[in-house]
Amino acid sequence: MLQFYNSLSKKKESFKPIKDSEVKMYTCGPTVYDFAHIGNLRAYIFEDLLRRYLKFKGFKVVQVMNLTDVDDKTIKGSKKENISLEKFTEKFKKAFFEDLKVLNIEKAEFYPEATKTIPEMVELIKKLLKNGLAYKGDDKSIYFSIKKFKNYGKLSGFKIKELKEGARVSQDEYDKENARDFALWKAFSEDDGNVFWETELGKGRPGWHIECSAMSIKHLGEQFDIHTGGVDNKFPHHENEIAQSEGATGKKFVNFWLHCDHLIVDGQKMSKSLGNFYTLRDLLKKGFSPASLRFLLLSTHYRSKLNFTEKAVKEAEIKVEKFDEFISKLNAVKSEKGIKAKKLIETASSDFENAMDDDLNISLALTSLNDFMKEANKLLDEEKLSKSSAEKILSFLNEINSVLGVMSFEEQKLEKELLDLIEEREKARKEKDWKKADEIRDTLKSKGIELSDTKDSVRWKKI
Ligand code: AMP
Ligand code: ZN
Repeated sequence: MLQFYNSLSKKKESFKPIKDSEVKMYTCGPTVYDFAHIGNLRAYIFEDLLRRYLKFKGFKVVQVMNLTDVDDKTIKGSKKENISLEKFTEKFKKAFFEDLKVLNIEKAEFYPEATKTIPEMVELIKKLLKNGLAYKGDDKSIYFSIKKFKNYGKLSGFKIKELKEGARVSQDEYDKENARDFALWKAFSEDDGNVFWETELGKGRPGWHIECSAMSIKHLGEQFDIHTGGVDNKFPHHENEIAQSEGATGKKFVNFWLHCDHLIVDGQKMSKSLGNFYTLRDLLKKGFSPASLRFLLLSTHYRSKLNFTEKAVKEAEIKVEKFDEFISKLNAVKSEKGIKAKKLIETASSDFENAMDDDLNISLALTSLNDFMKEANKLLDEEKLSKSSAEKILSFLNEINSVLGVMSFEEQKLEKELLDLIEEREKARKEKDWKKADEIRDTLKSKGIELSDTKDSVRWKKI
């Protein structure tokens, strides 16, 4: 039975979508004022794992990931560079999609941009005004009155009595101590340069929180199944999204809230403001492979903190290589003789699924996969596995990889000249010309090919 930890009820609940076999999910996307750091990417990889696992379970997934291309940070950035907001955010949008591709993150069905969803935001704010939950301040901005929404705090545990009377906040980000009525529509100020929209609400721009309410409702409807983000999004962002959406529609907004914990460096959250961040580009330049970074980011359970170190990436690299080696060994099995692997695969498959069903328990799922590989590797080394069993294992791995996305099934190819050398060495071995065989082995090694001899044949891998 598939279960997720719901941040709203603060317990694990069995998962059932509103519509039988379709899951609608909203994932808070990037604020495009800089390149994504790998803390952000951890959140996107968690969401990708969730999406892929839901598909593995047979659900159709409709995922929305927004692009926050107008907010306090993007405006500040464009002013600093003295270019238009559109031009400023454009390069980070492009970089974001490149990062997703490099990390083999599946594409969402919709990537709405805040700047293109302004009319929907205006409509939502108008509903809140009509329902008496919003008001115009003396600064002409429109605020959400959190005291009027009786469920305010249900996600983050914020208690309304902690509220400072009459206080308002117009910045997008603030902590619980500073919780107040927050801005839905920010009246134009000189600080916004030329970023504004002339609307029925006056000249101005949206607050960050209303953007996600409008973009999710637009693409997924007033009620949907899953909403995710990093834990830092719980307050105020997601708390405010609930207040705005439920305040406007009168319906329960989202059934399941899933939050991933932070990626940290030296005990602190990786963030742009602390300056302790790596972008994907930084890490690729250091020579780390995309698959090893992806594996590292997904192999810690999403609700645990992930401490990022270069040592951990190197360890992940070794684990990914182990998959590749296993796959090339399976591809090399030629003999029809050998034992069947049906039972072994069935056990591995149900262990993987049982672990993932339990709130995506990836650590347990990977341990069971590792145990399976150990057993199968032993059979391969003893040349006890038949070709048809090897093929069945490969197709099982393919299924698992539809969730993990880190394995490579492309058979590695060698140039003819190198294959000839391997053959020449095989001949030398058969003739017991060990000197020649060793010389060829060394030559191949100097060309980046490592050999390992089996009873009747030889395997090679690129190093
Ligand atoms: P932002 O671009 O700041 O709006 O963040 C995009 C996503 O990354 C949000 O879901 C954040 O919660 C998440 N996020 C930001 N920093 C981290 C971090 N250090 N670890 C994990 N997720 C993060
Ligand atoms: Zn959001």
